[in-house]
Amino acid sequence: MAGKKDDAKTTAELIELDRRHVWHPFTQMSEWTRFEPLIIERGKGNYLFDTEGRRYLDGTSSLWVTVHGHGRPEINRAIKAQLDRVAHSTLLGLGNVPSIELAERLVDIVPGGLTRVFYSDNGSTAVEVALKIAFQYWSQTGKPEKRRFVAFTGAYHGDTFGSMSVGEIDVFVDKYRPLLFKTFRAPYPYCYRCPLDKTHPECSLACLDELEKVLAEGHEEIAACVMEPLVQGAAGMVTSPPGFLRGVRELTEKYGVLLVADEVATGFGRTGRMFACEHEDVAPDILCLAKGITGGYMPLAATLTTEEIYEAFLGRYDELKSFFHGHTYTGNPLACAAALASLEIFERERTIEGLGPRIDLFGQGLEELGGLAHVGEARWRGLMAGVELVADKATKERFPSRERVAHRVCMEARDRGLIIRNIGDTIIIVPPLSVTEGEIRDILRILRASIENVTAKGPV
Ligand code: PMP
Repeated sequence: MAGKKDDAKTTAELIELDRRHVWHPFTQMSEWTRFEPLIIERGKGNYLFDTEGRRYLDGTSSLWVTVHGHGRPEINRAIKAQLDRVAHSTLLGLGNVPSIELAERLVDIVPGGLTRVFYSDNGSTAVEVALKIAFQYWSQTGKPEKRRFVAFTGAYHGDTFGSMSVGEIDVFVDKYRPLLFKTFRAPYPYCYRCPLDKTHPECSLACLDELEKVLAEGHEEIAACVMEPLVQGAAGMVTSPPGFLRGVRELTEKYGVLLVADEVATGFGRTGRMFACEHEDVAPDILCLAKGITGGYMPLAATLTTEEIYEAFLGRYDELKSFFHGHTYTGNPLACAAALASLEIFERERTIEGLGPRIDLFGQGLEELGGLAHVGEARWRGLMAGVELVADKATKERFPSRERVAHRVCMEARDRGLIIRNIGDTIIIVPPLSVTEGEIRDILRILRASIENVTAKGPV
């Protein structure tokens, strides 16, 4: 293969070593070792290439991170230029150039009122930081009893203990439940399977009434409400109806509870606006960002707060009001340089402004997929989509989980040159914002053929 070094390992050798040593995330390893894994060697544009030179459309943006495509020369150049200056320097006791410049840029583009940027490395830590800040904010402003959180059914906020405690997807958290703190839970508008057994829009967003009940009763002990605005990603790209996000903001304001917007998945253009909160003109008290922040190049996260929250942490050193948190790679210069380069592309190419026609095309295709016999619901917001498969469309009965129908669809799609992943019964499609119209058509075509083929085969 072009550019391959003589000492490069063969695919078979890599697979053998992977099986021997690499423990994959969220993976049943006994199953992993039974199948031939795909080993990715490089990426270009919206495609990934395996070690055999086969090309695949990256239909999940490498886990919802790739924004402008792989191998963008501007981002590569920015990282290389930073590499020639310094790869890493700590934010504990020092500043560094890209982290300062990025903080300024972020404050500029996020919803109003957020002025302070606390860096970490991934989405879970961005949320963990938010929880600790919210808790400590109240303890330092005379309301130490406000120490609990309210979050939503179906939420996913990461896999550290704090973020798992506010999350609610059973398969991910059940095993660890004895170690998690208790969280108030309000229903999220998963309208296809309404947790309140109602129908939208006749329900008039009754789920907000449920949230209000929780807040009215518990607000004196609730520090913050944590939510994924507009789209619950890991729940299966569950999209909330208009007014829900705004309603949550109004209720949290009414009851003196902080709003933490977890835009780890929805941030940086995925929903068609830079941030999902913009769709309903919402400014949270705390905003969590990660995934697409670097254009999908490096691990980096940021938790932004208002000035008011920040000020509650000020005092004499021996008052111990500091925020006692920080990771070794906090504010890593290479990652911040990548993030700055990505934001420059957003600005120069007017990425968000140009999304409209492709979102429409994506939406039309998904709507058509919704007509397939085993598609219960195809839902999307911007370029984030979930296609929920069902055994019976009329009753919404699920396929038996052992049949792994959605997983088989994703494997079939892979054979046809498209990388997508399922979460439970739902197939997740999140192409990079740089996806072309032709590539959207390819994604939809492969998806349709894969669903039709697998569901026509019946159980295995
Ligand atoms: N919050 C949300 C909304 C997410 O979708 C995710 C990851 N899918 C996380 C937090 C956790 O991010 P990470 O995997 O980077 O820790």
